[in-house]
Amino acid sequence: MPAGCDHCEKKAVYVDPVTKQRFCGEHFSAWFEAGVLAAIEKYHMIEPGDRIAVGLSGGKDSTVLLTVLAKLDLDAELIPITVDEGIGGYRDDTILAATRLCDKLGLADKLVSFTDICGKTLDELLANDPRQACSVCGTLRRRALNQAAREVGATKIATGHCLDDEAQSVLMNYLRGDLTRVTGSFQTNADTLFLPRIKPLCRSTERETVAYGLVNHLLTDLPECPYTKYALRAGVRKGLGKLEYKNPGTMMNIVTGQEKLLAKLGPREGEITKMGRCEICGEPTSHRLCAACALLERRA
Ligand code: SF4
Repeated sequence: MPAGCDHCEKKAVYVDPVTKQRFCGEHFSAWFEAGVLAAIEKYHMIEPGDRIAVGLSGGKDSTVLLTVLAKLDLDAELIPITVDEGIGGYRDDTILAATRLCDKLGLADKLVSFTDICGKTLDELLANDPRQACSVCGTLRRRALNQAAREVGATKIATGHCLDDEAQSVLMNYLRGDLTRVTGSFQTNADTLFLPRIKPLCRSTERETVAYGLVNHLLTDLPECPYTKYALRAGVRKGLGKLEYKNPGTMMNIVTGQEKLLAKLGPREGEITKMGRCEICGEPTSHRLCAACALLERRA
């Protein structure tokens, strides 16, 4: 690590691998926060008076997200929401971390659980077959977050997805051969049924996010979810991490390349998916049942 910050006399604690800029803790934090604000403004994520439901797991990304949003001068109310999936040996610690952060920031955390929405924990739903863990978890978490956000009158939902997550998602769409998502052609007649989602960390790498958490003493040692190893994303994450290390800027190129592709394709007609309401829960869906109710019916 080089000795000096490029912006003051203090010791550098972070070097940007792309530009080689060196930062002390204070200048790194200011640079990181400015990057988050630039992404919010570029993608018009927040409007004056918004009530933003912030998905707060208590892990590093959402901890940094809530801290930075609370620090930025945004004309918006923040409402943290924590979803307890019911994962033994993991979730209790992260919920405690989420509660502590909200106490520190003077925000009230709304806690919802899988048992609230289906009477079972994720561990019980998987019933000794953990291979689909992340798909079950993601589907029910989306439902839990959407419902809770609507209950508190939120206008948008903010999640802690960072640049790494975005680049991984682009690659995974190709790996699955999912042309609908690759070409961004999933359009519906029911925009108003969904709360818009925003990702203020979408242009910040995980490395930067962790560095911000460390520099600002936000992170504590937390266990890793025991189901992480079953995710397709785990392999993509590892491979992409190696590429980024050897060629800094690769993830940004993947994400901006995808944006250019979508801009070139432009708006398309005749691809509107008609949305109705789930017969069981009333959530928007293009099928008889929404993804969460269909999943619960299969696992009943
Ligand atoms: Fe859920 Fe998978 Fe994340 Fe664990 S790793 S919290 S199962 S999505």
